[in-house]
Amino acid sequence: MSDFNFSCTQCGKCCHNLRLPLTHSEASAWLQRGGTVEILCEAIPWVTEPALSDAPAMHKRRRSFLACSGELPIRVIVILTATFEGACPHLGRDMRCGIYDHRPHVCRIYPAEVNPFIALSPSHKQCPPEAWASPTPFMRANQVVDAQTQLHMSLLRHGDQLDTGIKAWICRELGIRSTSLSNEGFMAHCPSREALLSLLQNIPPDVDGMPSQNDWSMVTNQAATFDALGRAGAKPVYAGSLASGPSQYLGFRPDAPPMEGPV
Ligand code: SF4
Ligand code: SF4
Repeated sequence: MSDFNFSCTQCGKCCHNLRLPLTHSEASAWLQRGGTVEILCEAIPWVTEPALSDAPAMHKRRRSFLACSGELPIRVIVILTATFEGACPHLGRDMRCGIYDHRPHVCRIYPAEVNPFIALSPSHKQCPPEAWASPTPFMRANQVVDAQTQLHMSLLRHGDQLDTGIKAWICRELGIRSTSLSNEGFMAHCPSREALLSLLQNIPPDVDGMPSQNDWSMVTNQAATFDALGRAGAKPVYAGSLASGPSQYLGFRPDAPPMEGPV
């Protein structure tokens, strides 16, 4: 079913324990308000170009930059996220947003999906049943009904693609060169607020023409993936061997280390 009615009940559940994807200008504003912004990296081996008709692959291509891990060509997807545990720093005691008129696009489109290839499913959302029992149409034939919500979905998706050069440059400037394998997890990097804000406020005008760095390592917590990446000529790193610090591996599956122990 792709038709949903919806009205927000202002329960506040969707404003807790999040990594909110932000455009680069939203990330700058979030940092200026004192928040924390992480840099999440995932990568896809990219040995051959996909057909133009392969819409999901072309979507990934538009929001990534070309790089290498060892001898393996990869495309790196970087996501700037507002990260917080517990309640959002802007959530009031009355469960109202304290920056309502300036809240990020992703907050304005919830519960719609950012990824155009993921169908909306109420069971994957925080909203209570009564929110979906509303008489207000939210989605018809897989399209969000409200024009403002559509606009913010478009701005977030296009911002994600337009920011690719900026994100490649930020990674190079901060020395970020470790990524997960896409669909297995993320490498989350947490630079200092001052360093990231300074970069976001001083983006060179020719950033899209700059080369990305090419010596990425690919982090995994799966022994089978580690072996496969090695055979493909990449630079694999086992997540369990990472030193604690401002970067951490966020795996989607429990650790499956090599039989002989962490590499
Ligand atoms: S910015 Fe506002 S809407 Fe977004 S998570 Fe925080 S409190 Fe919720
Ligand atoms: S979880 Fe759903 S109903 Fe609750 S505040 Fe968020 S959008 Fe509204």
